[in-house]
Amino acid sequence: MLTFLSGGTGTPKLLAGMKEVERDFAVVVNTAEDVWVSGNKICPDIDSVIYALAGIIDDAKWWGVKNDTFHTHNRLKELGIDEGMMIGDADRATHVFRSELLRKGFSLKEATEMLARAMGVEQKILPMCEEEVATQVVTPEGKMHFQEFWVKRRGEPEVAGIEVEGIDRARPAEEVLETIAESRAVIIGPSNPVTSIGPILMIDGIRRALEGKKVIAVSPVIGKNPVSGPAGKFMKALGYDVSPEGVLDFYRGLIDVFVVQQGDGFESDSTEVVETNTIMKTAEDAVNLAKFILNLL
Ligand code: GDP
Repeated sequence: MLTFLSGGTGTPKLLAGMKEVERDFAVVVNTAEDVWVSGNKICPDIDSVIYALAGIIDDAKWWGVKNDTFHTHNRLKELGIDEGMMIGDADRATHVFRSELLRKGFSLKEATEMLARAMGVEQKILPMCEEEVATQVVTPEGKMHFQEFWVKRRGEPEVAGIEVEGIDRARPAEEVLETIAESRAVIIGPSNPVTSIGPILMIDGIRRALEGKKVIAVSPVIGKNPVSGPAGKFMKALGYDVSPEGVLDFYRGLIDVFVVQQGDGFESDSTEVVETNTIMKTAEDAVNLAKFILNLL
């Protein structure tokens, strides 16, 4: 078995390719970007992982359900409620399903398992923890939730730092440590190191669980830029170079093999750096990257 650590865009692309060539894997997913909207809990990264594995993700945007409609969202707007983020009708059904289970006393881990099963996903998808934790972006205007920074403000404010509120008291969700322990390797997908993988690694015990495991990471930064999203801005704010070297620096001491874009290779004393095409524009690109990673094992 393999375990992936995932955020909500880059790694889900890879997972969609991986399931075509290897089905025996689990995914530990970031929950620090979760928010309650209109009475329901949205777990953006878990939702994207489930949708990607179920083959229903909107692969133009890499969030939400393909061909979704927005009747409820638009009707709420007419009634004077701006949800602040676009929530499709089918996507909302996921949030209702989850939130109903949480209100009935099920854990997030159990609710995620039931959701994944209901959508025909056979892999184990685990939230990183049960506790509510929240990534706050520190800006000159004050702290704002990641979703406010990224969705409402389109990532425009200057970034002075990142804080993950509540992470100190978070414990790995049920089965996370066992799943990692049983895996022959852990793969850190091409996700935002600071706000997607960072919070997972901050949870007491998870970093330790990776020690002694073969850990492979894929760079989300190509040349001097991330493929998408605010990773560059966040890395710079924390003092890391925005480059594959900077990503490796962020994961210092943790990874054995680092997969970078063809032409981005460099020498490292601690880590084997290998090159291939890591840009997943098509399903075939993702399958090829998945095969490349399996060959490293
Ligand atoms: P978020 O929760 O939406 O921020 O999702 P992730 O953290 O999983 O993904 C964001 C990261 O994925 C960004 O830093 C992107 O650079 C990276 N990414 C997105 N698509 C690709 C891709 O096709 N290849 C690679 N190598 N990285 C990608």
